[in-house]
Amino acid sequence: MIQIKGIAAAGGISIGAAYKVGKEEFIVPKVIILDADIPVQIQLFEEALIRTRREIIELQKRISSDMGQEEAQIFDAHLLVLEDRMLIEEVISRLKKDKLNVAFIFQEVLKKYISVFAKIEDEYLKERIADINDVGKRILRNLLGKEARSLGELKDRVIVVAHDLSPSDTAAMHRKNVAGFVTDIGGKTSHTAIMAKSLEIPAVVGVEEATIKINQGDTLIVDGVLGIVIINPDEETLNSYHATEARLKGVTEKFLSAKDLPALTLDGNKIEINANIEFPEEVPAVKLHGGEGIGLYRTEFFYMNRKDLPTEEDHYQAYKYVAEEMSPYPVIIRTLDLGGDKFLSQFQLPHEMHPFLGWRAIRFCLARPEIFKLQLRAILRASVCGNLKLMYPMISGIEELRQANKILEEAKDELRSKSIPFDEDIQVGAMIEVPSAAMTADILAQEADFFSIGSNDLIQYSLAVDRANEKVAYLYEPAHPAVLRLIKNIIDSAHKANINVGMCGEMAGEPSFALILLGLGLDEFSMPPQVIPELKYLIRSISLKQAQSIAEEALGFSTSSQVDEFAQAKLKEILK
Ligand code: PEP
Ligand code: MG
Repeated sequence: MIQIKGIAAAGGISIGAAYKVGKEEFIVPKVIILDADIPVQIQLFEEALIRTRREIIELQKRISSDMGQEEAQIFDAHLLVLEDRMLIEEVISRLKKDKLNVAFIFQEVLKKYISVFAKIEDEYLKERIADINDVGKRILRNLLGKEARSLGELKDRVIVVAHDLSPSDTAAMHRKNVAGFVTDIGGKTSHTAIMAKSLEIPAVVGVEEATIKINQGDTLIVDGVLGIVIINPDEETLNSYHATEARLKGVTEKFLSAKDLPALTLDGNKIEINANIEFPEEVPAVKLHGGEGIGLYRTEFFYMNRKDLPTEEDHYQAYKYVAEEMSPYPVIIRTLDLGGDKFLSQFQLPHEMHPFLGWRAIRFCLARPEIFKLQLRAILRASVCGNLKLMYPMISGIEELRQANKILEEAKDELRSKSIPFDEDIQVGAMIEVPSAAMTADILAQEADFFSIGSNDLIQYSLAVDRANEKVAYLYEPAHPAVLRLIKNIIDSAHKANINVGMCGEMAGEPSFALILLGLGLDEFSMPPQVIPELKYLIRSISLKQAQSIAEEALGFSTSSQVDEFAQAKLKEILK
């Protein structure tokens, strides 16, 4: 039995067999062939080259129509690798000489090529290594007759163990046989972790060397509460975990008693408790857990795991469904928040040194108004089907808000000219997740209908801590005095301008922080649906006055650990 520590990403306990998902690497067998097989192997090679060429051209076409000619040209270099006579001839001549299967020969030649390029002191040629590697993998995959890696086809219920899982890998686990997952890298508020929470998959991330220490088929306990993974547990540990599972169920049942009651404080203040969703299919879970609305609908997941871009009609149908199902409760649709750690297969974005600081969210949408406006039109059209609001991610200052609103006005005009109805009074909010927006909340509050604090990003940007990097996870402190002061400033500015302010980052669903946020005056809390009953239970156990004094005391501390300790103690006291 071995115990390894990581970062608790999504609560719950899960026990099952390890299913290791490799980086896309193949085991290539070495097979001796007969003279008579040589033409067959050459034909195999030619077919793999043709198939690979077709794949690349298809990809290039898609990118050219989605993103433009320039981005599509990246793949010209890939096509050139495919046409490299030296490479092709060397494979064929070695095949004839060595009489081994073509996949093995190709892999050997590829390795040699890459090592030659790696030694050349020329930046341009060095960069070509990535192209050769990429195309080489495609050819190998086609030579071996394998499909591209997919997590969507798991047959047994397993615990997925991977070096990293992209949010789109995680999205593919949606309703699949995944009982839990463990990754080598990642932080608590990486989108992979957030997805795990909403899919109710216990997860531990940032477990260094998990993929080295865990073998295929090992029995694993994933403890998403403490952030530990136990490999091949002994009987005593297994029994104790089964008991913990039962205890957790007991606590959950206590909280569930509050799920359908209003979130009223003991002194009669009504707090809005909403849910975060990534897929329309989560709506039933929101209702089941007593959610009174949707405070964050992360629409970018709609673009993932599909070959084409969603059409306006696709968007419209999804938003209409969510609006109707949740009506009369509000649904806040967050416009496309692409970039950071969320990449979409349809957009081959240029590689950036710091994607979280780069071309993401509203910046991307303002630069691609046709993609943005299509989504806005769909939201507007669906706004007559329920209580829809919209908000923009990553607003860094008033000018961005104005530019986004200008495109929104154009979308409204287009609908008006076609006499398509929409809610003329639709509320438009700004996410406050960049420190510059937090500091100028008073200015933004003049032109936004509401605020929603994106604490996941606000913390990473204000503390300069990459939210997806396990190495600096210890510095990711929601209770840092700087973060608390920024949040206080946002809430006070919103209230001065008479607008509502919510929070849809993970912090809002953490009970000890929620106590402080309540006291600071937060109007709306949005969180993964599963956390709602506990938060409702908590709010019903405390008066606003009590929370205000907790917040005041919390603001007086100089370190995050003092705040944490204090808030945890208060929480224990309140929940007894
Ligand atoms: C946030 O940043 O807090 C947020 C809710 O948005 P996301 O996690 O999708 O970046
Ligand atoms: Mg964010």
